[in-house]
Amino acid sequence: MNQMMALEKTHPREGLWQVEAPVPEIGPDDVLIRVSKTGICGTDIHIWNWDAWAAQTVPTPLITGHEFAGEIVDIGSNVQDLALGQRCSGEGHLIGKTSRQSRAGKFHLDPATRGIGVNEQGAFAQYLRLPAFNVVPLPDEIDDDIGAILDPLGNAVHTALSFDLVGEDVLITGAGPIGIIAAAVARHVGARHVVITDVNPDRLRLATHVADVVPVNVAGQDLAEVVAGLGMSQGFDVGLEMSGNARAFDQMVEAMTMGGRIAMLGIPAITIKGVYGREIFETWYKMIAMLQNGLDVSGVITHRFAARDFEAAFAAMKSGSSGKVVLDWSQA
Ligand code: NAD
Ligand code: ZN
Repeated sequence: MNQMMALEKTHPREGLWQVEAPVPEIGPDDVLIRVSKTGICGTDIHIWNWDAWAAQTVPTPLITGHEFAGEIVDIGSNVQDLALGQRCSGEGHLIGKTSRQSRAGKFHLDPATRGIGVNEQGAFAQYLRLPAFNVVPLPDEIDDDIGAILDPLGNAVHTALSFDLVGEDVLITGAGPIGIIAAAVARHVGARHVVITDVNPDRLRLATHVADVVPVNVAGQDLAEVVAGLGMSQGFDVGLEMSGNARAFDQMVEAMTMGGRIAMLGIPAITIKGVYGREIFETWYKMIAMLQNGLDVSGVITHRFAARDFEAAFAAMKSGSSGKVVLDWSQA
């Protein structure tokens, strides 16, 4: 087994290509993971489309993908605390150890960070090399499908937990996978009303399937009327911006109460300090604990494909109406 199937950005143009690639060799501090499931991220769509960001950032050829779950099948000689057969997901940001930020434990702010599937060989493959430091073991209650979407779940959890949500009225702009998961998290931790906006009815329908939220299609509905209908006399206490759309942000600012607080994950082209990703590894602990404690986001996975059917999977993701799309590598 020294060859594997992988999805590679082989050429600097639109698309991904299915290739035979060598199984990665691991170093003394690494593990080899047999990938079972992967999630398709918005980042992967940028890479597929080969937009200006991707062309500037991603070297070719490169195996893409960074959202994964799998099982440890080989272990480097220095690795003490992991075992063969351990089910895991993992942090896709490979961080340096020498920057001031890393040495302060603020790994998510390390300027030397390199991303698997973006700067380094990624997870859309039957096997993935990962530093043991980045491995996050999965408890039995968390299946590989959810394990494969813990990366966006982390974005949602990190943003949603920016502020105390207990008893608060929360507005989420953007019902993409991350906005929907954030809505489920807000309910889970005890928000009162959770209102979620989008302009895409499919996305809003999905949101109501995953969480007990009030959907508002701002293309036709008046947000202020919905707010009044909920008996809210003032605006929202907390806003979570998850659309990346400047109009959504303006609408959010308008709808907040005096002293309200906004966390921004979708960052439009304006100068505001946004939420950067997730905290490594604090967010991983929190999200795994919440999943073990009944947080159910499984409904956000709307499509599952065998890895070899990746073109259909990317088409589903690019339709803009899907939730998370998961690739199954056991049938590669
Ligand atoms: P997505 O693109 O799937 O979802 C965004 C949603 O916003 C879409 O459903 C879209 O229809 C909706 N939208 C568009 N205009 C709107 C408007 N005026 N009002 C309300 N909704 C509107 O994205 P996602 O994968 O769920 O990610 C959410 C956002 O977070 C994206 O902008 C993404 O780029 C960003 N992101 C940031 C980080 C970070 O580290 N800061 C990490 C991951 C994702
Ligand atoms: Zn991702």
